[in-house]
Amino acid sequence: MNPNRKPLVAANWKMHKTLAEAISLVKSVQEETGPCADREVVIAPPFTALEGVGGILKQPGYSLAAQNCHWEEKGAFTGEISPIMLKDLGCQYVIVGHSERRQLFGEKDETVRLKAGAVFRAGMAPIICVGEVLDEREQGKTFEIVASQLEGALNGLSPAQAERLVIAYEPVWAIGTGRTATPGQAQEVHAFIRDKLASIFNKGVEKKIRILYGGSVKPSNIDELMAEPDIDGALVGGASLEVGSFKRLVQFKS
Ligand code: PEP
Repeated sequence: MNPNRKPLVAANWKMHKTLAEAISLVKSVQEETGPCADREVVIAPPFTALEGVGGILKQPGYSLAAQNCHWEEKGAFTGEISPIMLKDLGCQYVIVGHSERRQLFGEKDETVRLKAGAVFRAGMAPIICVGEVLDEREQGKTFEIVASQLEGALNGLSPAQAERLVIAYEPVWAIGTGRTATPGQAQEVHAFIRDKLASIFNKGVEKKIRILYGGSVKPSNIDELMAEPDIDGALVGGASLEVGSFKRLVQFKS
């Protein structure tokens, strides 16, 4: 981490938790973890629990996020949710381009770009996910893949929007597999992403953009990941579903 950027630990609950379970977990997380001044905690429950969780997410330092959205404000898009609906429920962030959306639901860089712009227009900030699959890493294509995902997704955003942007580097081979990138592997890609952000936006903007690492983050590896200079936080799936492990992640030691 870098003291000039506020660390952010985000919980992606994916398709887990009924409303009652979500409320119980978020109450416990806030009771156990307490207010946060020097770090930000973001909770991304399923759509069905956004209103319930948002209604009790009152500790200082905590924000609400959605896991996906459509890029239009309204219209004939059966089953979709628009950014203004999410803003209306109190969301401050939307996760966009998660690898599960890309791999299982055909999300492309172009839809990631449209969604990111729509999230900004609705007054929120996107958490844009990028990352290579195992085959691409083994073929030495990690930087090429991440660069093209960034170019595709960020095209057209202004430097002022970019300052509020959050990027999550999530190597797909590390998501939900228990296999984490080493701190060195993650730092190498985070530094590359920061350089790429400097070339896409005005130089200097990249220093303000938070870049999270995601992929089997757990209590046993959070501290060493957060010790890296370009890792500004974590996007967490599995370990965010249980209060004890998530509390330890929020309370990472720097
Ligand atoms: C994720 O879904 O973004 C993720 C990183 O999951 P996990 O922490 O379970 O690997």
